[in-house]
Order: sequence, then C-alpha cells, then structure tokens
Amino acid sequence: MPYFDHNATTPLAPDARAAWLRATEESWQNPSGPYRDAARVRARLEQAREQVAALLGCPAGLVVFNSGATEGANAVFAHWARLLPAGVRVAVNPTEHPCVLEAARAHFPAERLAWIEVDGDGVARLEHLEALLHSGRMGAVSVMAANNETGVVQPWREIAALCRRHRVEYHCDAAQWLGKLPAAGLGGADWVTASAHKFGGPKGAGWIKIAAQADGFRAQAGGEQEHGHRGGTEDYPAIAATAAALAEAESAAGARAAGRTRWRDRFLGEIATAIPGARLAGAGAERLWNTASLILPHSANQRWVGKLDKRGFQVSTGSACATGREGPSHVLAALGIPADEARRVIRISAGWKTTGKDWQALAAALIAVEAELRAGEADVIRA
Ligand code: PLP
Repeated sequence: MPYFDHNATTPLAPDARAAWLRATEESWQNPSGPYRDAARVRARLEQAREQVAALLGCPAGLVVFNSGATEGANAVFAHWARLLPAGVRVAVNPTEHPCVLEAARAHFPAERLAWIEVDGDGVARLEHLEALLHSGRMGAVSVMAANNETGVVQPWREIAALCRRHRVEYHCDAAQWLGKLPAAGLGGADWVTASAHKFGGPKGAGWIKIAAQADGFRAQAGGEQEHGHRGGTEDYPAIAATAAALAEAESAAGARAAGRTRWRDRFLGEIATAIPGARLAGAGAERLWNTASLILPHSANQRWVGKLDKRGFQVSTGSACATGREGPSHVLAALGIPADEARRVIRISAGWKTTGKDWQALAAALIAVEAELRAGEADVIRA
C-alpha cells in the first residue's frame, strides 16, 4: 500500500529493528548498574551517542537522548526561561511545529516573544531576524530546519552564523530534516531537537543536542543519567535503534535526494497539467525532496484523503498533530493562504522506499479522484 505520510511517522528501518532486537536480548541491563554487564550496556550507549554526535558534527557529551522533539523543544524553552534575564526576548519563526510554538507560549509571556517575518513561501526573512538581533534585548532564536507541512527548508546555516555573531543562542528543530538530508553541520546550532520515528527509528525516542555552554542544563530532575542532563533510566534498545536508523538514512540522504526530487517534480508536473487550478504551497522555496503540500481546486481535503485511502494511498490533510482537531493550519496562514484554500490542502510525504512508480500511481489516483469529486460537486449544484 503506497504510504505517503512519512512526515507523520515512518516504518521502522531494517537496521533499526535489528539493533533494537539485539539490544533487547543482549543489553537489557540498567546502564547505571555496578557490574560488568551494565558497564557493557553503558559503553554501547556511549558508542551510540558518539555515532549521532559524529553525524551532527559536535562533541558526544552534547547529545542527550530523550523521548523526541516535543520533549526537546519544551526543555529548550524551559531552560531559556530559567536563564534569560527578565525583559530579554526570544525570536521565534511563526511556521514552527506546535511543540515549539506552545513551549514558547508556555514559558514566555507574549511581550517576550518576537515573531520573525516570513516570505510568501514561509522562509524566515534574514533581514528581519538581523534587525531583531540588532535591537538588543534578544536572548535566543528558534527556527526549524525544514517544515513538516510544506517541506520548505529554512536557511538554518545562515541563522546559526548570525546568532553566533550576535552571541545569541539558536535552537533548530531538525525533526523533519534529519534522515532526509545530511545531518552534517547541524552540530553548529546551539540546540538541536530530533525525533527518531521521523527517520526510521522507534517512536518515543530522540535527542537534544545541547549548547556547549549549557553545563547546568537538566531536561528533567531525577538520577544522574545522561551525564546529569536528564534523570530517568535510559531506554538503550531505543537509543541503539535511533543511532542505527540515522546511520541508515544518512547513507541515502546525500546521494539519493536528487533522483527522488525528480520523481516528485514529475508528479507535480502531471498534476499541474491534469488538474487545472491545483498549486503547491511554498512552491518558490527550496523544499525537502519528499514533501508536496498541494492546494486543490475544489472539495474539502478530508474528502480527497478518504477517497485516496479507499484507492490504497495514505496522505494527510496537514501535520499529524493538527489533523482533525484544529482549524486551518497556522503554517499555511503564515504563507498568506486563505482559510478556505487551506481546507483544500493535502500533504503528500514520501520515504526512501517510495518508488517513481508509486509517485506515478498516486498521480493517476489523484486525477481519478478529482474527476469523481468534480462530478459529485456538479450534482450538488444541479440538485
Ligand atoms: N517538530 C517537527 C517539525 C515535527 O514534524 C514533529 C512531529 O510531527 C515534531 C517536532 C514533534 O515530534 P514528536 O511528536 O515525535 O515529539
């Protein structure tokens, strides 16, 4: 069944599954234990930390394993709220995932949050961020690497450099970037948050790359696990699977992205020709090779999703967290897409195993569904 909702979650990658099973059978002891078997698990856990840190390009001691990007974002904002002097503000990109937006709002009053302007594709405007940083009173910045709904890529390398020049801490939510594009260089951001299940790892696992100067950082109180940064017995099998999944995805991330982009773009070309009025959100920006946020010319997105599902194609109406619970997406609103159009958006997100044939089959299914829905709408108008 062609699965086109990889930005919501991914199936467990073969290497991750093997690593998890091996760790569960052979390395189930508590890594903090005082005997040799526990020391072996501890050593393996440190190897996994080194593996992730090497891919990010940062010292291993700065990687703190946790339950994923939501926990990570909450911990970053809680840390900033504790450390930043009263009156100092945080600049936040308005198209962030709700875990960043809500963590920001939970820890800072509205007057201490500055919203970074984005262009019509949702890309943060660097001139505006620079102006905010020049205004003084800015203590930290949060801008994601790639957007979960549109796939639009943010200039995170430039933002990291800008923040370094202004001696302001930078948090990058890399949940959608990691495993799709190379991780190299992300270690240059002060704070990086990640979820393993977005790149073939297990759910409820991930990490936070902490700032070098964050000695006193504590994600949660408890024991001295994770070098004192996060209390609670580590889930070593999940950590082993996380490191294996990232390594497996990284081996594809550099080399295969160009070919995958061609498949997606051929799909978009077919849709543009066959479904007049269909257009792409964030079309003018650099985007992840796997994602297409399609604004369809008619009919509510749930109807498209339902009909595609019946034909065997799983796509989404938006971000996993927003589906069915909220009004139109804040991301699409930030791009200036009116609410009535946002209700006609479907998000298509492929994985490394998605083939060119899958993309072609999805195009054919969308074209057939469009004809069906158009005929249905015409009947309603006649009735
Ligand atoms: N950040 C982004 C960009 C995401 O897409 C997601 C998940 O959809 C998250 C953070 C949260 O990840 P998790 O639910 O695994 O904590």
